[in-house]
Amino acid sequence: MAKIKLIIVLLAVFRPEYNWPLVYFEAFVKLHQLQSFTLLPLSFRADEVRGKRVIITGASSGIGEQLAYQYSQLGAKVLITARREHVLQQVVAKCKALGAQDAYYIPLDMGKLDDTKRLIEEAKTKLGGIDHLILNHVASTSYYKLWTGDMEQLQNFIDVNFRSYVSVATYATPMLNESNGSMAVVSSVAGKVALPLLSAYSASKFALDGFFSALRQEFVMQNMDISVTLCIIGSINTTTAVEYSKHVLRSEMFYTSASDTANRIMKGATLREREVYFPWIMTRPPLMVRDFVPNVLETLTKSTYKEGALENLA
Ligand code: NAP
Repeated sequence: MAKIKLIIVLLAVFRPEYNWPLVYFEAFVKLHQLQSFTLLPLSFRADEVRGKRVIITGASSGIGEQLAYQYSQLGAKVLITARREHVLQQVVAKCKALGAQDAYYIPLDMGKLDDTKRLIEEAKTKLGGIDHLILNHVASTSYYKLWTGDMEQLQNFIDVNFRSYVSVATYATPMLNESNGSMAVVSSVAGKVALPLLSAYSASKFALDGFFSALRQEFVMQNMDISVTLCIIGSINTTTAVEYSKHVLRSEMFYTSASDTANRIMKGATLREREVYFPWIMTRPPLMVRDFVPNVLETLTKSTYKEGALENLA
């Protein structure tokens, strides 16, 4: 405790413009969150997932595919979606083999608003309702780019990574309200901390925080018992993420598996956590120091990029 006080006094000398009593209070809140992070997943009970009616978007590969398997292993009923039908068929077959009570797929393009409505109509027909909605899909194009004014890519990111999330969530709300359900929104550390060469992607993920953190409060104001779990994800070893970043980021960053990440997201949604940070060490500390010492954070961020990242992109 004495050390925390000393750090705050020292910071107060160097950054007098901050409201230090408030900072002191926030430090305690953060410590509490740190403790909740370690304790909460331990209270997860697998039987809470059995029979749950779950929608997973972006489930033909990566974290979404693993989410489908995690839920299936625990006996949930899953409806998965993405664009590639032949891959979805294979994922559904594996879900059934793993123990899903029911497993369905519907090929849809989340860049089209009509398709977001079709997804929820399908959930009503096939599952008869929704308990968990996991919004996970992401536009399939390399995120790493120096901003030179590519408005088409920006539009695509906003449509697929943000607008479709809002649209699906909106259509799903009446059914989630009936079941007192859970919504998980898969974001990124780039949705909390701005990262270079990711400006358009980062913007679409920041938008998720703005929208869904407000929606969470609006549900409370309307006495609707729907939880909203924002998932702040670090570098995860998925085929696309590794491929897109291979010229830019250090490969040591990708030490976390998609399966572990999916497990953490499923637990977060089941436990109705407000936010999930995974892997914690890569995602939570940057946010803690972001407002105190932004220059230090930016220097640390730069060290995770490869030498000559800009030239490699060209
Ligand atoms: P991924 O393997 O590339 O999977 C993306 C999924 O989205 C695929 O199933 C893809 O399937 C689907 N998709 C793409 N465009 C679509 C569209 N227009 N309509 C419908 N579905 C579409 O991604 P991931 O690495 O697992 O990432 C999953 C989530 O974690 C994303 O939200 C991502 O931003 C977040 N995240 C990942 C990392 C990481 O390092 N992997 C880090 C931070 C955050 P089809 O091609 O078949 O449509």
